Amino acid sequence: MINKTILISGCCGFIGSHLCDHYLKKKFDVIGIDNLLTGSLSNIIHLEGNKNFSFFELDVCNEIKINSKIDYILHFASTASPTDYLKFPIKTLQIGSVGTENILKLAIKNDASVLLASTSEVYGDPLQHPQKESYFGNVNPIGPRGVYDEAKRYLEAMTMAYHNKWKLNTKIVRIFNTYGPRMRADDGRAIPTFINQALNNKDLTVFGDGNQTRSFCYIDDTIEGISKLLDCKYSYPVNIGNPDEYTILELTEKIKKLTDSESKIIYKKLPENDPKVRRPNIELAKKILKWIPKVKLNDGLLKTINHYQNLHKFN
Ligand code: UDP
Repeated sequence: MINKTILISGCCGFIGSHLCDHYLKKKFDVIGIDNLLTGSLSNIIHLEGNKNFSFFELDVCNEIKINSKIDYILHFASTASPTDYLKFPIKTLQIGSVGTENILKLAIKNDASVLLASTSEVYGDPLQHPQKESYFGNVNPIGPRGVYDEAKRYLEAMTMAYHNKWKLNTKIVRIFNTYGPRMRADDGRAIPTFINQALNNKDLTVFGDGNQTRSFCYIDDTIEGISKLLDCKYSYPVNIGNPDEYTILELTEKIKKLTDSESKIIYKKLPENDPKVRRPNIELAKKILKWIPKVKLNDGLLKTINHYQNLHKFN
């Protein structure tokens, strides 16, 4: 039997590289593309020599020229952490707009099913809690986070336009905070930052008073949700995230305890438009995908801590 071919954009990123592993395990031929702006080849180094995997250093903002027949596309190329999108604001908007349209055109050319990564950031600083897919959000388009939030909102609008106009088989996943091995230690996000600070006995930098909340989903659960969504017929956005909600202070306490760290907490200015709360309503995913996240925060944190400890050992 001939393997199906799946193209994964952003294959050198955190989620993209785990998707490569997942689909290789499922006996797909995987084509990974990445421009290495924020992703790293170290995330796919273990795939070197795998005859079912090929990598092309390509930018989705340019025309994507791939000769093989593609059956599925996963569009995960994007700057994703607040630190990264504040550093590359224009590129972030271009990836979400020009890059997304190039991916959709590639899907049309191949008659491929395409799943695109959106985000809980489309809900902005939400006035509805927890956030349901039907909520339109509360985004400041000209605030610092607007470059990411609006890029992803545009991605959703463009995807639905291709779906409606060209009957393209599309899916949109709204990913809530996800964590696990392979997040860049310096990507600025809460979990990799706090773990690395704690392991190095540095102060833990809490922004604002630390009472803002997030709900953290372990990478294995996120990958399973995405994989199930790709297989299903539903074309409207679906939330994938873990509804267990914690304040940022609670998160730092857990990380301190699990790393047995003496680090102190220091308070820094809260970034502009930082959402005060975030928690997914996952009833839709439960119903149509029969999916629920299984990994408890403590267990996922331990696996992530273990990953960074091993990295430190080899550096
Ligand atoms: N945060 C923090 N200290 C840090 C990094 C993040 O207090 O060193 C806070 C941040 O202000 C936000 C939450 O942790 O309220 C989650 O931030 P992250 O960058 O992980 O993702 P976001 O959910 O904001 O996209």
